[in-house]
Amino acid sequence: MMKIKTIKEPGFEEIVSCEESASGLKAIVAIHNTRLGPALGGIRMYPYANQELAIQDVMRLANAMSYKSAAARLKLGGGKAVIIGNPTCDKTPELLKSMGKFIHCLKGRYYSAKDADITTEDLVEIAKETEYVTGLPESMGGSGDPSPWTAQSVLEGMRVCLNERMNRSDFDGVTVAVQGVGHVGFALAKLLHEEKARLIVSDVNPKAADRAARELNAEIVAPNLLLDAEFDIFAPCAMGAVVNDQTIDMLACKVIAGGANNQLADEAKHALQLADKNILYAPDYVINAGGVINIYVRDILKEKNPMPWIKKTGDCLRTVFERSKQEGVPPSQVADELTGQILAGGV
Ligand code: NAD
Repeated sequence: MMKIKTIKEPGFEEIVSCEESASGLKAIVAIHNTRLGPALGGIRMYPYANQELAIQDVMRLANAMSYKSAAARLKLGGGKAVIIGNPTCDKTPELLKSMGKFIHCLKGRYYSAKDADITTEDLVEIAKETEYVTGLPESMGGSGDPSPWTAQSVLEGMRVCLNERMNRSDFDGVTVAVQGVGHVGFALAKLLHEEKARLIVSDVNPKAADRAARELNAEIVAPNLLLDAEFDIFAPCAMGAVVNDQTIDMLACKVIAGGANNQLADEAKHALQLADKNILYAPDYVINAGGVINIYVRDILKEKNPMPWIKKTGDCLRTVFERSKQEGVPPSQVADELTGQILAGGV
């Protein structure tokens, strides 16, 4: 039997928890804002130490999805789901089907997708119980892996940064340091290789770094030494909070533009410090929206080609940089203000 409870939090339309003893499911769905459309966001599975930490994480992630979709001008709201559990030993078909039933109870107010430690195969299991699943395999008519599209939007944003900061639009000979060459980072490095950029890569998984060296002629640098290397563009594509009190003094590049979420540990403080150092920062949720754009265009609109929408992320970034210069405030602050207005229905 499913035990579903509502959790009230200011600023959120709906937060619901679910426990189901037979499958062992403990999950939370947060719906931040559905003013522009149904909430969409991935499902993350993680062994949170307690429910409070899971609620904090799902709220932060759902809020970020509202901003990402609004900035990309998608008719989608922001939502996210977390399953409390260890993905290596707690994930069973029964648990995933139970998650599907939970999502189905929300009657389409929340559309799920994949996030950390939930695979496309897991989505297939979840989809046995609900139609509100996006990013299913292309062989099943779904939009497939969002990562290559995320990489496309990051490349688009990087080109705008190149123009803004280095007054050029080609990558020939520009050195880019890609931190993390997993799904997004490798796809981005491949695109940059095709654009004749010089690549430096680091990854805690040596196999991932070796592959980039072998296939893309990238130079490998140990993860703890990456920021000591010389490069023009830093592309964080691993974890968040990589710009923090420890790393800010080490950064000596011209541009930061990457796929990772929440790159600035303290958004207000570190955005100002980057501006003082004359490092151009492309707000993460503006340039890493390619994945959700692909889902929106192919799974929701049922159109084939997300590229025209992905190109628009470049236009959004140009507007952000223009206003940032006019108003003398960091790009991330401008992005938050512009997106806040879209979310409030004012634009
Ligand atoms: P992934 O797990 O496939 O790749 C991450 C890579 O980073 C792995 O190869 C991992 O070994 C490496 N890594 C971890 N810690 C590292 C460190 N300290 N130094 C160097 N490398 C390290 O994940 P992904 O799907 O490529 O996502 C990467 C980032 O982009 C995440 O922050 C994710 O939230 C964000 N993101 C992904 C998508 C998407 O479409 N997949 C969309 C938006 C944002």
